[in-house]
Amino acid sequence: MRKVRLGKSNLWVTQIGMGGIPIMRLRRSDAVKLVRQVLDLGINFIDTAHVYGDSEEKIGEALEERRNQVILASKSPARDKKTFLEHLDLSLKRLRTDYLDIYHHHGVNSREKMEKIIGPGGAFEGMIQALKEGKVLHPAFSSHHLPEAEELMLTGKFEVMQIPFSFVDDEAKEKIIPLAQKLGIGFIAMKPMGGGLIEDARASFRYLLQFPQIVPDPGVEKIEEMREIVEIVENHPGPLTQKEKDRMKKIRQDLGKTFCHRCDYCQPCSENIPISLVLVFPTLVKRMPLKEVLARCEEATEKARDCSECEECIERCPYHLNIPHLLKENIAYMEKLKECSLSLP
Ligand code: SF4
Ligand code: SF4
Repeated sequence: MRKVRLGKSNLWVTQIGMGGIPIMRLRRSDAVKLVRQVLDLGINFIDTAHVYGDSEEKIGEALEERRNQVILASKSPARDKKTFLEHLDLSLKRLRTDYLDIYHHHGVNSREKMEKIIGPGGAFEGMIQALKEGKVLHPAFSSHHLPEAEELMLTGKFEVMQIPFSFVDDEAKEKIIPLAQKLGIGFIAMKPMGGGLIEDARASFRYLLQFPQIVPDPGVEKIEEMREIVEIVENHPGPLTQKEKDRMKKIRQDLGKTFCHRCDYCQPCSENIPISLVLVFPTLVKRMPLKEVLARCEEATEKARDCSECEECIERCPYHLNIPHLLKENIAYMEKLKECSLSLP
């Protein structure tokens, strides 16, 4: 597979990496097997995070004996130096390694968090120490917010960055991707399939292939999904056809402007509401039979009636969606759908 140099670093990663979220849902033995199968496909870049449940541990086990075949990345959400260094040591232990090629400040989604991280006593001081000690080779950050991302890029402190990027979430193409290239910062495209909203892998990766300098890191649960992606990337390069562009435009229009990215940063909800499932069901209605949507989402939407409007989730949502309001809208929409379903054969 073609390799991409991450900015000015000496890291040459395959043009597709592997994201570490979905393996959280797999049994340990299945996750370990999957990671090894992904490496067997020729992929040499794996990205996970301190907060992805047992993802680091599963990857650590899979990489036993194969650590030197992989460019390994993880992330810490810590704001202060001490917690950052504790997270890093735990990441190293779980991943069964004594260094990480890339370590991110995770989810720098607000000005307040950014200022804490790069301010006195902040997590970036921990990053400097980790670089000196050889525990981290390349400093990075991830963010869902482009203004903070741009400021962090301009500090000159980071070699790699990670931002959501797909044809339904393409704002970074205007300024951030060209700036990353100009500054020599490696660009990893997080959520290349819109965090699960795009079901068409061919459309997703054909779009991303228009940006040869970026590296998407899709999360997969089955090796067949990664094989399909690799096949598209290796065998179907070239400009988008008008038909493809029209199809992508239609999918974007269906999703609207302020859509839930299913990142689940809004959790935990004090009322245990599965927020993302309730927020995304109207988009599923456009693509799935009504009966299936009801089977998947009716119970969750019913649970959403328990929302106490505490608004804690709004603070945590990187897109600052008005979640309590959207839940109410979707409860009303679900009621209409249920009425319609009664008239179905
Ligand atoms: S506002 Fe509602 S959905 Fe959000 S955390 Fe509070 S109870 Fe949960
Ligand atoms: S509501 Fe916000 S934080 Fe929660 S899943 Fe959706 S985009 Fe992510």
